[in-house]
Amino acid sequence: MSVPASRLATASPARYVSTRGRMPVARFCDVLLGGLAPDGGLVVPQAYPRLTAEELAVMRKLSYPDLAFAVISRFVDDIPEADLRSLVHRAYRSEVFGSPDITPLKTLEPGLHLLQLSNGPTLAFKDVAMQLLGEMFEYVLQREGRTLNILGATSGDTGSAAEYAMRGRKGIRVFMLSPHGKMSPFQRAQMYSLQDANIFNIAIRGVFDDCQDIVKAVSGDAAFKNAHRIGAVNSINWARVIAQVVYYFKGYFAATRGNDEQVSFSVPSGNFGNIFAGHIARMMGLPIRNLILASNENDVLDEFFRSGRYRVRSSRETLQTSSPSMDISKASNFERFVFDLVGRDPAMVARLWREVEDAGGFNLGEAPCWRNVEQYGVVSGRSSHAARLSAIRKISSQYGVIIDPHTADGINVGLQHRESGVPLICMETALPAKFAETIREALGRDPEVPAGYEGLESRLQRVAIMDPDVEAVKTYIAGRTGS
Ligand SMILES: *Cc1c(COP(=O)(O)O)cnc(C)c1O
Repeated sequence: MSVPASRLATASPARYVSTRGRMPVARFCDVLLGGLAPDGGLVVPQAYPRLTAEELAVMRKLSYPDLAFAVISRFVDDIPEADLRSLVHRAYRSEVFGSPDITPLKTLEPGLHLLQLSNGPTLAFKDVAMQLLGEMFEYVLQREGRTLNILGATSGDTGSAAEYAMRGRKGIRVFMLSPHGKMSPFQRAQMYSLQDANIFNIAIRGVFDDCQDIVKAVSGDAAFKNAHRIGAVNSINWARVIAQVVYYFKGYFAATRGNDEQVSFSVPSGNFGNIFAGHIARMMGLPIRNLILASNENDVLDEFFRSGRYRVRSSRETLQTSSPSMDISKASNFERFVFDLVGRDPAMVARLWREVEDAGGFNLGEAPCWRNVEQYGVVSGRSSHAARLSAIRKISSQYGVIIDPHTADGINVGLQHRESGVPLICMETALPAKFAETIREALGRDPEVPAGYEGLESRLQRVAIMDPDVEAVKTYIAGRTGS
């Protein structure tokens, strides 16, 4: 099933379709609270907005919140402009992100920069999207007179970013499952020390996959899901993706003098959300030369960009590494990129993901569309534990800056692809304080704890510890959602 010509004729960046072609055209607020499209695909805009040279010139001068409004408003036409502007301004305040720049650019040496995305409340880049999501969810739920109970599973960064974004919000509760005893002490303290009445931490005696399975089972029970208004905030959420597009513009403007220059971005990748936002920025007309994808030992995506072969890993094949937020077996946002790669042909995407189900993957290396990868400027590489440690040492000794293990993967691979005359912007996706053990291994000392986080680990913690039992989790949720 291909996109009918009549639909293409009215293609709009604020109208949404599914990568698998079987969802009626939807508007932004229709897709904001949802996960997968009803046909099992992912929601994408009918078209990408294209910016003119004049528009880019105006955007260069904007503050972060105004820039965020300029970008995000292109994808949203069912929230009144004044309301959207105030949501964005509330999300991106210097009190929350530590500076009016929100994502400041730190220059290590001429032509080599770090885009600091991790100055939000949980010290990882996921805050940039989650803080906006918190504002948008509360706004839309209030407007529609609805409430929502967010159910999720986390191995670390996502759960805490979601909780800090949703804490204290009207009409929203968060039930977050985490593997008991498996997160770093800092990550655990971040989540479990929250005392807000709408935040419920559930530690499951098991591993992350057990948590994920429980979430799937509970969300798969349609009657329970409807009765208890269960929702999600996972990495395929469309609003999270567009919030991330903004900092590519911000980084570009900060690293260049004029809009005729090109830059490359290096992105530590897991579920392909962050780097996909870079792809959108490039499609909108931002002069990005390369998007450099960095994997760790779990190199599903590096394998694809080198060979055209997408081969999903089993959980047994998925390694636990010292950059845990990139330990993926498949990349949930990747389908959106493949949709563009195959010329936005939903029948082709549906066929490829049937192959994923039936045969564990597909191969586009010989397909005519493969040359689009080069046209989209995506290159890749992988990093190892030893390479992470040496990057942490090198950046510390050369520039006096301590980076976290995920950022180290990005810098490693970024430097492999660095070209002279093209500024390289490396995404800082977390602060080192979250991963003290690896920093100690690399540098022989503890990372600095940012102001306000001293003594975090000794604060009172609030968590329910439970067996991996779907019914017990349902009973716990039902007892707290008031229906
Ligand atoms: C989530 C995360 C990543 C991976 O980002 P994706 O958008 O899933 O590709 C990388 N680094 C850190 C620190 C993260 O929390």
